[in-house]
Amino acid sequence: MNDRVMIVTGGSRGIGAATAVLGAAVGYAVVVNYASNRDAADGVVATIEAAGRRAIAVAADVGFEADIAELFEAADRFGTLTALVNNAGIVDQVMPLAEMSAARIERMLRVNVTGSLLCAREAVRRMSTKRGGRGGGIVNVSSVAAKLGGAGQYVDYAASKGAIDTFTVGLAREVIDEGIRVCAVRPGIIDTDIHASGGQPDRVAEMGPGLPMRRAGTAEEVARAILWLLSPEASYSTGAILDVSGARSILP
Ligand code: NAP
Repeated sequence: MNDRVMIVTGGSRGIGAATAVLGAAVGYAVVVNYASNRDAADGVVATIEAAGRRAIAVAADVGFEADIAELFEAADRFGTLTALVNNAGIVDQVMPLAEMSAARIERMLRVNVTGSLLCAREAVRRMSTKRGGRGGGIVNVSSVAAKLGGAGQYVDYAASKGAIDTFTVGLAREVIDEGIRVCAVRPGIIDTDIHASGGQPDRVAEMGPGLPMRRAGTAEEVARAILWLLSPEASYSTGAILDVSGARSILP
């Protein structure tokens, strides 16, 4: 049994994969969750194992409570959960609200918000010192869209990340006496596959030069912030939301 297990939801690609690899490097045994891309998840596990660390891949769609239960049960068999990175998230095709279907909005909120809330609930049930746990850390992956609003592109996504920010602050205070710190990161434009899944495969190339830092961020740059928030170095930070956006979120 491992004594420091980290679950990374959506750990098979992008920010989640970078977080899983970096988390393993600092000593976590990592549960690499994915929705459907088994090969990508196996690749992350292989990278971690090649470095002499431990990881398992677990399929679970965080849009379904039963899948989340199975994900946490797999983590229980792997060892003691001490860290959750609520990273899994989706975007959708760019369009104004006036064109959005109820099904799209419902799916966006179910995966990005309900999924994160339910994963955090399962983590708190296991980590809380008032419930016999050893304490731990939760980092939620928000977005600068929570501040910018996503106008004309995806206000549903931006609203889902606004909910993540509010839940980060509320849960941090709720479990502050239970040995659990809860923080979030708000990435800006990061070079991952997510833009292609939203129908904008060239978004990073097109927007990068116009960003304040003249480039997009990397998944590793976000992962390093996540790992710092989980580390003892951040022991007085809870309810904190760290922008990792190269100043994109700072409006003129
Ligand atoms: P990505 O490259 O598209 O990777 C998404 C990951 O989430 C994959 O591992 C995917 O699994 C998994 N996933 C998707 N839906 C899932 C579900 N329903 N249940 C479980 N896992 C699911 O995304 P990313 O860019 O790394 O984004 C990660 C997080 O950062 C998201 O919350 C996103 O909103 C946030 N973020 C990203 C950016 C950016 O510019 N990239 C900016 C701000 C915030 P499969 O491999 O199986 O599909």
